[in-house]
Amino acid sequence: MAKKHTARCACGSVTFEFDSDPDFVAVCHCLDCKKASGGEAAVFFGVPEIDFTLLTGEPKAFHYVAQSGKGLDRNFCPECGARVFSSNLESFPGLVFVTVGSLDKPEDIEPKLEMFTKRRLDWATPLDLPQFENMPR
Ligand SMILES: [Zn+2]
Ligand SMILES: [Zn+2]
Repeated sequence: MAKKHTARCACGSVTFEFDSDPDFVAVCHCLDCKKASGGEAAVFFGVPEIDFTLLTGEPKAFHYVAQSGKGLDRNFCPECGARVFSSNLESFPGLVFVTVGSLDKPEDIEPKLEMFTKRRLDWATPLDLPQFENMPR
C-alpha cells in the first residue's frame, strides 16, 4: 500500500513516498534557496530518512555547500531537471528535505514558519506565520 504522502518530479520518472506529517515546514527566503529553486523562496519540509522511500528513478545528486558552510546533496531528476529533495544534510542529520511542489497533493502540507526573512525581496508579502530573520534555532 502506498504511504500517506506520494511525490514525483515533473516528468514522473522519480517517485518517492513517506508517512510522516512534518513538524518543520519552512518558507525559506535564503540566497541558497533562491538559486536552487530559481524563485524568490523555496517551501520545504523535513522527513525522517527512515520513513523516506525512493520508489522509482535515479535522481542525480549535486553536492553543495550552503552559506552556513554546511554541506548537503541536492537531488534532481536527470530527465526533467526538477529538484525533488535534499539529503546528507550536515545541519540536519537523519532528515531528508522535500520541496512542497514535488508532492502529488501539495495542498496537504502547509508551511509553519518563514525564515531568512532578511533576504525576502521587497515585493513579497509576509505570510501570517512566525517570522525568523535567520534560521529558527
Ligand atoms: Zn523527471
Ligand atoms: Zn533556504
